[in-house]
Amino acid sequence: MLYNAALEHRRTAYRKAGVTVRYGDQSGELKDIRADDPDGQGRWSFSSQQATLRRLDKAFAAFFARLKAGRRPGFPRFKGGGRFGTVTWPKDGDGCRWDSQPEHPTATFVRLQGVGHVRVHQHRPVRGRVKTISVKREGIRWYLILACEDVPADRLPATGAVVGLDMGVASLVTTSDGEHLASPRHLATSAERLAAAQRGLARKKRGSKRRRKAVARVAALHAKVGRQRLDSAHKAALALVRDYDLIAHEDLRVANMTRSASGTSERPGRNVAAKSGLNRSILDAGWGVFLSVLADKAESAGRELIAVEPRNTSRTCSRCGHCAPENRRTQAAFACTACGHTAHADENAAINILRAGLALRDAAKAA
Ligand SMILES: [Zn+2]
Repeated sequence: MLYNAALEHRRTAYRKAGVTVRYGDQSGELKDIRADDPDGQGRWSFSSQQATLRRLDKAFAAFFARLKAGRRPGFPRFKGGGRFGTVTWPKDGDGCRWDSQPEHPTATFVRLQGVGHVRVHQHRPVRGRVKTISVKREGIRWYLILACEDVPADRLPATGAVVGLDMGVASLVTTSDGEHLASPRHLATSAERLAAAQRGLARKKRGSKRRRKAVARVAALHAKVGRQRLDSAHKAALALVRDYDLIAHEDLRVANMTRSASGTSERPGRNVAAKSGLNRSILDAGWGVFLSVLADKAESAGRELIAVEPRNTSRTCSRCGHCAPENRRTQAAFACTACGHTAHADENAAINILRAGLALRDAAKAA
């Protein structure tokens, strides 16, 4: 494997002669190596090999930075097949070709240099022009990741409706209309399993067969969690973009600061369900993935997306505006101590978020 060969080259040069081999040197030598070895290294795309060398270059830069900082870093390690998961081709047509058999009536293929035509199962139709292609391995499955440009906009007709979103744990999203979207129950189940698998992995002896199996299990569960998260994010975002012209949501950077696993006075007990750190980080990542998918879809549909400062949105009464921590009796129940208004706590917060979003939009229009 090129990465390991290039690393061995740098290692030997560094130890024996104190010479640092840099990316430029190795990239230059690569041309000769390819010419000498047409069936081996010569089979692979030059630009994907360069990407591999650049990645090694990055690992070395980090190594020397740690050394400079007075720490004793580990020398960049050889990557086993399982640890080195992704190969990227910077340009479609250079060593790889998307839709390499367009005349085929039903199947889609990609041609990878050194591999040949590979049939692809498409999760979603490709829109726009394919710019870069990455091949990624997760456990025993292989994935193609396409980056496209000139993706056509998909304008949707105006609905005249607006919505606010509260992001939580029991439901990923609660809307100001009282809908609960993307309830990540199956995600939570996978997360529990993943946490258990990781605890199991920590007990296995290094280099043992059982440990190898445990590593594969953790990788497979990680991949599953990722797919489930992306899938539910797509579904929820699609439904919202279809139904609403304007969507107000919490600013996640601020929201994450006010959230803690034990809950805060601001949102008492809100995250009780997020027991372990891992479980919590999975949910945090879920919000991030959801918002980025939502932003993409909103832009292409011509919908307005507004990020709102979430402070006080959970303890303010959406009917009379009375703001007090006592309004929030339990995690799920909101009961205003001034006007007696009761509501689902997340729905009450979502209405406040919508109101704040509309105020921001009006202020921007007036300016
Ligand atoms: Zn009230």
